[in-house]
Amino acid sequence: MTRRDNTPLAPGATIGILGGGQLARMLAQAASRIGLNCHVFAPDADACAFDVVKRATIAAYDDRDALSDFANDCDVITYEFENVPSQTASFLAQNSLVLPDPRVLATTQDRLIEKEFVDSLGIATAPYAAVSDAPQLFEAVRKVGLPAILKTRRFGYDGKGQHKIDVGGDPGAAWRAVNGAACILEGFVPFEREVSVVVARGRDGSLQSFDVTENEHRDHILKVSRVPAGIPDAIAAEAIRIAESIATAFDYVGVLAVEMFVLREGTAHRVLVNEIAPRVHNSGHWTIDGCSVSQFEQHIRAIAGWPLAVPVRLGRVEMVNLIGAEAADYGRWLTVPGASVHIYGKGDPVPGRKMGHVTRVQVD
Ligand code: AMP
Repeated sequence: MTRRDNTPLAPGATIGILGGGQLARMLAQAASRIGLNCHVFAPDADACAFDVVKRATIAAYDDRDALSDFANDCDVITYEFENVPSQTASFLAQNSLVLPDPRVLATTQDRLIEKEFVDSLGIATAPYAAVSDAPQLFEAVRKVGLPAILKTRRFGYDGKGQHKIDVGGDPGAAWRAVNGAACILEGFVPFEREVSVVVARGRDGSLQSFDVTENEHRDHILKVSRVPAGIPDAIAAEAIRIAESIATAFDYVGVLAVEMFVLREGTAHRVLVNEIAPRVHNSGHWTIDGCSVSQFEQHIRAIAGWPLAVPVRLGRVEMVNLIGAEAADYGRWLTVPGASVHIYGKGDPVPGRKMGHVTRVQVD
């Protein structure tokens, strides 16, 4: 069925998902629990979401015949990753309801545009400057100061495309490392903690945020998330206000995550936005076992035009990612009291790849 109207979906309807990784897999698992089917479109035949969906299309993102057939089967289309090619999303949006609106991708796919957008809302970020050639990098170093991080504007994730320049370091080496890609130079922030807010916004503009999550990274990859975050209540409220104002400014429908740095200045704290992810997010995985509703179900509810649930956290929660070979050790978690084990079915472990996660809930 091809449709662009705003009628809420009924059980039995089909949600299309672009991308077939673990986020699509967990979206499909959540959808099936509330009677909705999923059709995943992904180019790789062994995408782990294919194991759990009603229908699958294995095709390239520029295969217009395959995209048209996919669209005809779906009542609403969403995506599990932010680097969906813009032509793919806009092609689908011609005749189908695509949520969140693909226009959001144009902002979040480019670090410079994203930073300017956050700035325009009066929300603080790390100091930054655009860099498109070597002289501009030296100018940016003067403006932003060192230490700083040179980040490619596009296609960066989990620290990829990032090069730190220390005090007294060589900006030229960082510039050579990015191979001429357009970048931003971002001041290195001496944060006390990294936190994120996962917020859902419904088709009617209603908002529901999950509790602020504190995140610990190892080798630039999320390792542990803890809830509640160890920050003052007023700072948590400020973080939620920031995420909700970003979702509203985008006229967003679905789940969105905002990663933030919390700085301590004397006895005061300050929040800076690092990054926006227009999708469900690893730092929200704790909600599957640690909350009355998961981020995945909230996303499905939002795009289906259903009311959002009011999330109620079930206790203190810790989520640990199983990265690379750590997944082979899943057996040791199976008998840990209160532990919920998730394995994504990605086959042989690859170093640095997220293979599963474990959540532990401690009821207060
Ligand atoms: P990103 O891909 O921008 O989310 O960066 C990945 C990780 O690198 C972040 O979660 C931080 O741990 C670190 N990082 C990124 N930008 C900065 C910054 N401006 N200052 C300090 N640490 C940063």
